[in-house]
Amino acid sequence: MTREPAPYIGRFAPSPTGPLHFGSLVAAVASYLQARSRQGQWLLRIDDIDPPREQSGASDSILKSLDVYGFEWDGDVIFQSNSLDEHLAALKSLIDRGLAYPCACSRRDLADAPRGPLGPIYPGICRSGCDAPEAAIRLRTDDRAVTFDDALQGLQTQHLERESGDFVIRRRDGLIAYHLAVVVDDALEGITEVVRGMDLMDSTPRQIWLQQQLGYATPGYAHIPVITHPNGDKLSKLTGAAGIPGDQAPRVLNAALLALRQEPPADLGRCALGEVWHWAIENWRLDAMQGETAASVNSGAMAAVEIGLW
Ligand code: GLU
Repeated sequence: MTREPAPYIGRFAPSPTGPLHFGSLVAAVASYLQARSRQGQWLLRIDDIDPPREQSGASDSILKSLDVYGFEWDGDVIFQSNSLDEHLAALKSLIDRGLAYPCACSRRDLADAPRGPLGPIYPGICRSGCDAPEAAIRLRTDDRAVTFDDALQGLQTQHLERESGDFVIRRRDGLIAYHLAVVVDDALEGITEVVRGMDLMDSTPRQIWLQQQLGYATPGYAHIPVITHPNGDKLSKLTGAAGIPGDQAPRVLNAALLALRQEPPADLGRCALGEVWHWAIENWRLDAMQGETAASVNSGAMAAVEIGLW
């Protein structure tokens, strides 16, 4: 008896903090090509649960850019803010089972906490109780190894208690923290593989820990190199990344393919958009980026600089 392979479901999940810049386009292209080359679905989710960080008009502008660049997502656009009830239900289940607890520690309380590569390591001050009315909620961790085998970056391991400590899943301002929201939504949507930038790889063990506590399946992960300026700076809103232009989509898409270490024919950037996508889907090789973290994506970065993307 032959078994059908499980259907592939991927996603792109931008936060509406500004227009789509070249770095986010590259992540969108990678997740899209990975899904399409596996005859899978590709979902588009706007991670809009952090109003203080949101920029007005950014959701519309991101959707418009993706449309102009020819992305075809499956189903309706998903807005993370619509799954608030599910986020709260997951939070409640963690609290009810004693896996999460209120914490009123301020930044100042943690000023002397030891620091690791992920930031201050929570020393567990509120683990045994805290009755402040305005508290964050932290998820308990222990010192077991959380391990995953990244499709591009290989085996990754963190010991959360030692490396991050118990971490915040609901912020003091009442908002659900990114890690919890993303894990609940990926589970709701049945995501089978997360393809995203290396800058989020450090977060993955905390997300896997949450999946384990909530009884969710863990998807596969592939963390792609972050886009760096030829001078080494990471491309981001903070370093002045501009929104991608609407009038040069084939050329910019071609630069994204170069950044992803694909080897498009020399004149692909001058072809019609549909032809660029056709070539990209037919020839997609995720493993062309095997083990690459950042600096070596410069051919794409150079092309982006030539186009004036930053
Ligand atoms: N919304 C997150 C961001 O834009 C990405 C979520 C994810 O890919 O896990 O940084």
